[in-house]
Amino acid sequence: MSEPTRIDYQLPQVEQLLQREFLQPFIAALSRPLVTELVREELAAIRQLPAFRELGVAAIPLDERLSARCQHHLRQRQTRVINATGTVIHTNLGRSPLHPALWDEVRELNTSYNNLELSLNQGKRGERKGLIARLLGCLTGAEESLVVNNNAAAVLLMLQTLAAGREVIVSRGEQIQIGGGFRIPDILALSGAKLVEVGTTNITTAEDYLNAITEQTALVLMVHRSNFAIRGFTESPDIHELARALPPHVLLAVDQGSGLTTETFTDEEPSVRHYLKAGAHLVCYSGDKLLGGPQAGMVSGRADLIARLEKHPMMRAFRPSRIVYSLLERMLIHKLNRDPRGEGIAQRTVCNAEAMQEHASALLRALPGRLRQVPAQLVVGGGTLPDQFYPALALEIIDPRPAQQLHDALRALPVPVIATVRQQSVLLNMATLLPGDLPLLTSQLTRLLAGTTAEVQP
Ligand SMILES: *Cc1c(COP(=O)(O)O)cnc(C)c1O
Repeated sequence: MSEPTRIDYQLPQVEQLLQREFLQPFIAALSRPLVTELVREELAAIRQLPAFRELGVAAIPLDERLSARCQHHLRQRQTRVINATGTVIHTNLGRSPLHPALWDEVRELNTSYNNLELSLNQGKRGERKGLIARLLGCLTGAEESLVVNNNAAAVLLMLQTLAAGREVIVSRGEQIQIGGGFRIPDILALSGAKLVEVGTTNITTAEDYLNAITEQTALVLMVHRSNFAIRGFTESPDIHELARALPPHVLLAVDQGSGLTTETFTDEEPSVRHYLKAGAHLVCYSGDKLLGGPQAGMVSGRADLIARLEKHPMMRAFRPSRIVYSLLERMLIHKLNRDPRGEGIAQRTVCNAEAMQEHASALLRALPGRLRQVPAQLVVGGGTLPDQFYPALALEIIDPRPAQQLHDALRALPVPVIATVRQQSVLLNMATLLPGDLPLLTSQLTRLLAGTTAEVQP
């Protein structure tokens, strides 16, 4: 006669579990309070499991389950990734990586006190934007400029300050939605301005704008079509002609978007300077697209208008941090001096075809028989240059796994590799690799393809 076996339902105490060796790296990486919560959540989940209810602790791989929960959260931490997508300014991957030397340059400025709002000449309160407006003037020809947190804020600030309660004329072809829910009609509604639509999706003429002008018109807003192109029979008004024909009470504002200034790799995109020269009173643009700096939004144009924008109470809510000002200031100086530290990632990538071939050759040598070189394309992305494709190289991975599975495995690497899938094969685009990526990519790929993927360690 054997005794009926007692089922053990006694899970370890949270405090005891937190002492376990395997949780220490997670505590270091995620913090003790967060790991404590995760342990509690996992214990609660285990108590609900049918296997636990029937068989108790013996049926539960406790350590593995705790590890998996921590691992899942570790993956939500910000981490470096390798961009093998061929899209240079990738909104999901943080848009523009900054030049490492630029980052080093502002370290001291940001880890000590600085003169953010102190005039060293006068010993009293100074302007936060400091030299930046002058530098933007050199770059774009603008009389005056201001900086806010992003271009969406720049558009909103322009509309709120100059057009609240009045009419804004926008072409139907420019009622754009830019990824992440930036819709011109919504921004307009939020600003308190009234949208007056003119033209059709593909054709809007200067006459269309002029015919829509009333006493109530505050401004004409032209939005550069940035993340889509309308092909075929299209017509947009000559901005020069429109600017000259507008009555004095109507301002011309352009949402240029990409922030193209002195970058030389594209002739397709009209620059900020181009619009100002053509007669736009204000032009706004992003800091982290073609300009290649930190996330920011700029408005450049007539000094009296910029002064009005800066006095608006929302300016206080939109102003960037000193980190942004410092990066932007140094970047603009380097850009004006044509120093690589001032070049945006788009310029650095598009003009660097040799690097692409070097990356491909090195990987082909390191992994013979597992990679095949195929032609590919490079796009700038991030809502810029929708119609421009530059020739690039990709490596197709030769592997028995289904493409999607391999693609996911690349994303699960310690330094995740973001690839693309095309017609059942996984492609690593060589154009968007950064200088330090190659050794890491090589070693990780070697392990992945040998079938020995390491789990991510914190
Ligand atoms: C990207 C873009 C925006 C939004 O800019 P953010 O800096 O992301 O806020 C607005 N308008 C145009 C035309 C753009 O290209």
